[in-house]
Amino acid sequence: MNPVMVRSQLEELGLMEVARVLETRAEQAVKSGWSYIEFLGQLLTEEVAVRRERSLRTRTRLARIPAVKTLEDFDFEAQPGVDRRIIEELATLTFIDRTDNILFLGPPGVGKSHLALALALRALEAGYTAYFTTLDHFVRDLQRAEANQALNRRFRVYLKPRVLVVDEIGYLPLDRAAANLFFQLVSRRYERGSIILTSNKSYGDWASFLGDPVLAAAILDRLLHHSVTVNIRGESYRLRQRRKAGLSVTPVTKEGVPGT
Ligand code: ADP
Ligand code: MG
Repeated sequence: MNPVMVRSQLEELGLMEVARVLETRAEQAVKSGWSYIEFLGQLLTEEVAVRRERSLRTRTRLARIPAVKTLEDFDFEAQPGVDRRIIEELATLTFIDRTDNILFLGPPGVGKSHLALALALRALEAGYTAYFTTLDHFVRDLQRAEANQALNRRFRVYLKPRVLVVDEIGYLPLDRAAANLFFQLVSRRYERGSIILTSNKSYGDWASFLGDPVLAAAILDRLLHHSVTVNIRGESYRLRQRRKAGLSVTPVTKEGVPGT
């Protein structure tokens, strides 16, 4: 059988990547003396890699991940407020099967969203479903759905994924109806699916932005029952970068030597 026919059969079977690399790999196999099994293994490995990559891209898009942030990109030295071992433990993703929640608390710019996104990406890479939203977006989305008598249907978007990131809790105060939607979200996901949440407010301040201490207690009770809180103290990463850039310039003028 000639290569053109082999390729067209591979394409008919949907093995597009094998079809694409077939001839190059066949030449390589001859040159390097691969066994038949090694040759086949090489082709299948490449097909599988391309498919995994494509599936990850699709699921990342469906997850509405706003930016690709990774744990590899996270500079732990720059943020001593984050215990690397805790993040590495979370990155094993056992929290997902336990339906534990993760709460990143701290002031702006310390890497809360970065870590939440990086864990969501790890979950997607491992084949779990994930979804990203901000609290503000969630509330507006469901209020719109409610107005169209589609609340329950729309709610499923936030209940189905194994991992739900809810970013930016506490930036805006919630009215009664919004706080209630947030309560529903937390109680309906309770022991069913993990929430990774970020907030600039400590738990003591939740009553005030939720406008109701009883509701705040009910939400926190469910959120924290099975959970890990990562409290990040320290300074904004961006401000720190700017300050570092500034410092490296100052000694040149003061002492005439480049700063460290
Ligand atoms: P927060 O959500 O706490 O306000 P972000 O996670 O959005 O902060 O971080 C602000 C920016 O700084 C983002 O672009 C993020 O990727 C980056 N960043 C924050 N901390 C780190 C870090 N330790 N290492 C690398 N990049 C960081
Ligand atoms: Mg953030």
